Amino acid sequence: MVKLRGVHKSFGALHVLRGVDLDVRQGQVLVILGPSGSGKSTLLRTINHLEKVDRGSVHVDGQLLGYRQAGDRLYELPEREVLRQRTQIGFVFQSFNLFPHLTVRQNLMEAPLSAQRRPRAEVAPLAERLLARVGLADKADAYPRTLSGGQQQRVAIARALALEPKLLLFDEPTSALDPELVGEVLDVIKDLARGGTTMIVVTHEIGFAREVADTVAFMDAGRIVELGPPSQLLDAPAHERTRTFLSKVL
Ligand code: ATP
Ligand code: MG
Repeated sequence: MVKLRGVHKSFGALHVLRGVDLDVRQGQVLVILGPSGSGKSTLLRTINHLEKVDRGSVHVDGQLLGYRQAGDRLYELPEREVLRQRTQIGFVFQSFNLFPHLTVRQNLMEAPLSAQRRPRAEVAPLAERLLARVGLADKADAYPRTLSGGQQQRVAIARALALEPKLLLFDEPTSALDPELVGEVLDVIKDLARGGTTMIVVTHEIGFAREVADTVAFMDAGRIVELGPPSQLLDAPAHERTRTFLSKVL
């Protein structure tokens, strides 16, 4: 479902991604751990083509992101095509990023109506179903600012699902939340994982990684240092840097 090969990304002189190879199979959950500044968010953003890679390739569901290949030459896709590829990948941010001037229901319906041009008669019941799925059926007419952080993040997840994405990316979805609200958001993500959604989750929640991940990757200084099933990576890491990191977060 997701295949990265030799991905490099620099910002000016700062070499942030230094050759990342990654495979995520359909229905699998990958959790990425790593210290601040190691490139986790940048990696997620390249998978969604919010950042263009300098070198290497990103495939999602068999499609090369951002380019069309003809023979051995690559042609950049027009922006419209890039947007179409991006709508197949849901992205949930640390900071929710809901539209403040729209109700919860309108937040969910906006992209399916405007980006996907789906009929309102189809999108409205979808929005109701998704709100029920994240436990917020009664908040459809509320504005984001009247909701708790945990509720806002659940709306953000429902909004990502409204595009019926093939892949969901989460960038520290619970780190802006008060501790007592973390559980309700993780429960929604766990529920999606059980339902077979392919996802990549950057998080510091080790308990969540242990329970939900098929694979856990440890990233440091722009590289994936090691990766394996949770039991291996969390309990018997092979690399000193992984051990040092885990000793700080566990
Ligand atoms: P954190 O755990 O703090 O979220 P991270 O692992 O997600 O960290 P990134 O956000 O990917 O790290 O950033 C990696 C490095 O790239 C950092 O040094 C950051 O300052 C830098 N960086 C990220 N985006 C940009 C940008 N648009 N322009 C310049 N530098 C950037
Ligand atoms: Mg980050």
